[in-house]
Amino acid sequence: MKNRRDFLKLGALAALGASIPGCRKADQPQLEAFTGPLDPLRAYPYRGWEDLYRKQWTWDKVVRSTHSANCTGSCSWNVYVRNGVMIREEQAADYPRISADLPDYNPRGCQKGACFTEYVYGPQRLRSPLIRAGERGEGKWRKATWDEALTMVAGKLLDNIYQYGPDTNTFFSVIPAMSPVSFAAGSRFAQYTGGVFCSFYDWYCDLPPGEPLTWGVQTESCECADWFNSKYIVLWGSNISQTRIPDAHFAWEARYNGAKIVGISPDFNSSMVHTDLFLSIQPGTDAALALGVAKYIIDNNLYDTPYVKEQTDLPLLVDKRTNLFIRAEGSTDRFFFHDAKTGKRHEAPGSMGSKEKTIALNGADPDLHYSDGEVTTVFELMKQKLAPYTLESVAQTTGLALSDIEQFAHEFATRKPAMIIHGAGLNHWFHNDLINRSLILLVALTGNTGKNGGGFNHYVGQERVWPERGFKAYAFPEGAKKQRMQNMTLWTYLHSSNKDHHLYNGKPIEHYIEESIKNGWMPLYPKKRDQKPRALIVWRANYLNQAKGNEYILKSLWKDLDLIVDLNYRMDTTALFSDVVLPAASYYEKSDISTTDCHSYVHPFNKVLDPLYDSKPDWEIFRDLAKKAAQVAAERKLAPYHDQQFDWHRDFTKTYELWSGNGKFQQPEDGANFILDGSPETKGMTFEQLKQHPQRFKKIDEEAWNSEIKEGQAYTPFQHQVESKRPWRTLTGRQQFYLDHPWFLEFGEQLPVYKEPLSDSAKYPFFWNTPHGRWSIHSTWRDARYQLRLQRGIPICYIHPEDAKTRNIQDNDWVKVFNDNGSFVSKVQVLPGEKRKRLTMYHGWERYLGFLQGGWQSPSMIKIKPTQLVGGYGHVVFKLNYWGPTGNNRDVRVDIVKYTPTAADLQAIRRTGKGKA
Ligand code: SF4
Repeated sequence: MKNRRDFLKLGALAALGASIPGCRKADQPQLEAFTGPLDPLRAYPYRGWEDLYRKQWTWDKVVRSTHSANCTGSCSWNVYVRNGVMIREEQAADYPRISADLPDYNPRGCQKGACFTEYVYGPQRLRSPLIRAGERGEGKWRKATWDEALTMVAGKLLDNIYQYGPDTNTFFSVIPAMSPVSFAAGSRFAQYTGGVFCSFYDWYCDLPPGEPLTWGVQTESCECADWFNSKYIVLWGSNISQTRIPDAHFAWEARYNGAKIVGISPDFNSSMVHTDLFLSIQPGTDAALALGVAKYIIDNNLYDTPYVKEQTDLPLLVDKRTNLFIRAEGSTDRFFFHDAKTGKRHEAPGSMGSKEKTIALNGADPDLHYSDGEVTTVFELMKQKLAPYTLESVAQTTGLALSDIEQFAHEFATRKPAMIIHGAGLNHWFHNDLINRSLILLVALTGNTGKNGGGFNHYVGQERVWPERGFKAYAFPEGAKKQRMQNMTLWTYLHSSNKDHHLYNGKPIEHYIEESIKNGWMPLYPKKRDQKPRALIVWRANYLNQAKGNEYILKSLWKDLDLIVDLNYRMDTTALFSDVVLPAASYYEKSDISTTDCHSYVHPFNKVLDPLYDSKPDWEIFRDLAKKAAQVAAERKLAPYHDQQFDWHRDFTKTYELWSGNGKFQQPEDGANFILDGSPETKGMTFEQLKQHPQRFKKIDEEAWNSEIKEGQAYTPFQHQVESKRPWRTLTGRQQFYLDHPWFLEFGEQLPVYKEPLSDSAKYPFFWNTPHGRWSIHSTWRDARYQLRLQRGIPICYIHPEDAKTRNIQDNDWVKVFNDNGSFVSKVQVLPGEKRKRLTMYHGWERYLGFLQGGWQSPSMIKIKPTQLVGGYGHVVFKLNYWGPTGNNRDVRVDIVKYTPTAADLQAIRRTGKGKA
């Protein structure tokens, strides 16, 4: 080809599909005409650019890691490094398959994880220790050396111990499953310095309190592969397309396996578009729907009679006069049913006080309907309680069509196995325990619990540390009894100016709180009531940004604390409002392990690079803090402190020795191996082996879990009870729907019941709804450039078009949302999918990100439910993250008005770019 004209001629011929002279046969790709001697690029002088692209796909090394943002994903990723820079990540996609009959876990990930390499180098990254140089939150800092920062922190903690007591130092970190070694680094330090360790699962309201109440477990759910086994999946307040991105496919694929999918949610969200039946329920009325369905099931004899007789407390006898269970004389924990076979009372096997360690009936036939002048059954009481929940009344309460409710009730009772996927949408209500219990009743009546493809499966928070035994031994080496454990909801409520003015049975909540503390049901630290907490150490968490009652906390607790320390890899709201910020390594710069309730594998974090800038892994920060505490104690010649509560002479010059297990734990990998080796689930695995690929758990710890890990089968809980007839972990040894504790009786909650949301509807007409969203994991990635580009990039409040009209609000206006607790100013989006009389903002926006005033938690407050303060009742006892008041946040009402930015606002918008959508 001699010139450009010839080249164009050739191109035209090729486009026409003509045979080109000199080319090979027509069945070969005609573009080959452009190669070889015809290659037009051959003479082109500037070829370097091609290499640029090739080099983009080269790397020096690949390292396996993951993310610990409490997403429940626990996805394995390969991170690619070139020239000492992490350039991209790719899903590792090597989870071993459970069975050819189940979809697998590969590839696994979400769009946040896919850009973490960008995030770690972002402007929010903390690079060196910082000490506050202005007011808290003002953003004025001075750089410090590690030595200076740690000396300051260690000195202050020791001052507090000797002057005010060790229980004035408080420690807060969350969700050990997502990185247990990093969690334990701080919890060990807390234990050896006598500090207070706060709960998180109940505080974040991830805990479904109905599970400890009914089943005596914190939470147990099937792994997500088991969704595929279901024939009827109910997404009840769970938006899996947004919040379970790696796992949503199991539900959608279940439809190819014959499943029908029902969605129950006030708004038409991105999961509801996939459902066969969508129930657009009025917010907060879910328990009414569940109890209506329960009544339908009982009225139409659609319940599983043998299962109900054996597995639930419904046949147990109750004294009609006292409403208390009939108990064996002198006993609090032995119960009876009426045996239809013998016509006599029969002691129910398997209760906490029973000699029999089985619930097998061995020929007895509990009479569900027995009633005489003195006693009746829980089942009969349940029928009375359910009487008002007719389909008509439920339709009125929930705003649903009667025919839809009936269809749902009938299908739920008749399609097996059926499961409920339960999410934060329901669990964040004040009466979450009643909602949980009402829904659990449905799967119990229909015999779906304990079966693959069935059950009540709650996914909020990455709560499951599968290798629990080893983890506990590493995190609290002296045992839980030698650790000050504290429910965080109660701690924050009592140490801030947040006051709930509702009356409960005519009494303020303080009445119940004081009773509970006095009875020893709930702990409160500091023990001396005239003391206030002095120091708060936060790591792996964003306490302030996520706290209910934000405005109250800022005005009170935050002012009372003398020292706030935050370990963090990014400048989040808590870091911004701290005194000392210690730069932590990111997920890709440390070693740890990860597990989740969503799957049955363990896999590692590996150090892809050494910690960037002047950061250190949390583990090393606490190691160095332990060394520093020992050094300061020695320099000050501190005599051992006698910790009366535990009769423990604490010699702080030995802090590091204790923390490191006398030198046994030299590296985070030592901690990981200790956890793996100390747990039946992972016994025999090593951290080194995990680097090859994720490994499925081998067997379970019977102390901790309620089913076996079976080869070829997805994990589902409660097979020990349903198949092997082991007692449930409750007072009665059965799934316990009747709670005859005096406080439950006082509030008429001995059985599940529907109670309206707790709010002042006349004054503020809109529910304030702050669900988990797609573009962040809580507050992580809220400030990530790529995520912000996928949305409007600023906090957005959603409103229904009709409601917008009544307030003269148009899309993208500035609005002020307010109530008596506080207010914020943000942009608004008019959204037809939003429910009327409700406003929504996906949660997690940092206070400094795009609000003209306040933050998304400004209108919220802490409300403690009296019955969640109960203790001393069989399985209902305080344990960290198992039982205690939840920091619920749905029962909040607000109003909204259009907001006109002031001149100062406009200046701020120009200066910071706030509100530029
Ligand atoms: S952020 Fe969570 S869900 Fe997303 S890829 Fe990482 S581990 Fe998976």
